Amino acid sequence: MKPPRFDYLRPQTLAEAVELLDRHGGDAAILAGGQSLMPMLNLRVAQPAVLIDINAVPELDRIGRSGDRLSIGGRARHNDVFRSAEVAQAAPLLTVALEHVAHEAIRNRGTLGGSLALADPAAELPACMVCLDAEIVTASVKGERRIPAGAFFQGLYTTTLEPNEILARVDVPAAGTDWRFGFDEVARRRGDFAMAGVAVAVREESKAVAECRISLLGVEMSPRRMEAVEMCLLDAPLGTAANIVAAQSALRDTLEPIEGSEIPPEYRIQIAHELLARVIRAMAAPVSGKRTH
Ligand SMILES: Cc1cc2nc3c(=O)[nH]c(=O)nc-3n(C[C@H](O)[C@H](O)[C@H](O)COP(=O)(O)OP(=O)(O)OC[C@H]3O[C@@H](n4cnc5c(N)ncnc54)[C@H](O)[C@@H]3O)c2cc1C
Repeated sequence: MKPPRFDYLRPQTLAEAVELLDRHGGDAAILAGGQSLMPMLNLRVAQPAVLIDINAVPELDRIGRSGDRLSIGGRARHNDVFRSAEVAQAAPLLTVALEHVAHEAIRNRGTLGGSLALADPAAELPACMVCLDAEIVTASVKGERRIPAGAFFQGLYTTTLEPNEILARVDVPAAGTDWRFGFDEVARRRGDFAMAGVAVAVREESKAVAECRISLLGVEMSPRRMEAVEMCLLDAPLGTAANIVAAQSALRDTLEPIEGSEIPPEYRIQIAHELLARVIRAMAAPVSGKRTH
């Protein structure tokens, strides 16, 4: 199929991009890597009157660390984030999770901002950003807006992004050496969207878990912190058998799985239940360095 007719605009600066977006608002769509938008146009699921291509806007693909903050531009390609030494150092969870995102060709074009704006419940990066306690930074004619990742995702393919906002960058707290991260997922085939996945971040003090953040993908409509599950792992060494069982039980009680797809909700819960234990055990296993990933 062919897309419907649209006007094509290619701003050269962020100021120009937000001005165009403000002018066209709900009639416009931002074109990043086109990995989802182009199929959506071809299938006429989306019919914007105007496409605003942000690929010529400088700086939007920047990845850089400043002090204890790692910033990743909204147009940073998945493969550039995946191969970034700064990301591997400051947010190794992203490096590990990105291995599971789609296929090489899609990772070459797909972008961080596109993935987060789309908010597919089975996507890896939204869940990781919630787990990392990242902040989404948007740009509009009014200036910047900072949104905690935990408040950004509102439901199935729904975020708090306004029609006149560009997802400009994501600020991630750079992890200290006392943090460990774990990630795993189950997909039908490598590169497919996950049926369920688990991201875990843990900070230890005196060999006990002092802070814990857990989020899931593919199970609920949108990623959120699993606070009741996190509580079960606190104040004890990571990997304590009783705590894993308690965490699995809390997970079952907490989850509100996606209904109405070909994957039965109970199956998603079962995968998440097993993955949670698998990820925690892998993180707790003795490693040469402090970090699992
Ligand atoms: C076959 C296939 C398999 C895939 N498998 C996976 C997978 O396993 N895991 C996974 O996580 N993802 C997967 N994806 C998704 C892919 O990795 C991209 O993240 C996703 O398609 C977004 O693509 P894009 O960045 O090119 O954005 P586009 O397609 O250009 O845009 C997507 C949407 O986001 C909006 N948008 C884009 N950038 C911005 C911005 N900066 N600010 C505001 N709005 C913006 C667009 O207007 C549009 O609505 C898959 C995609 C395909 C086609």
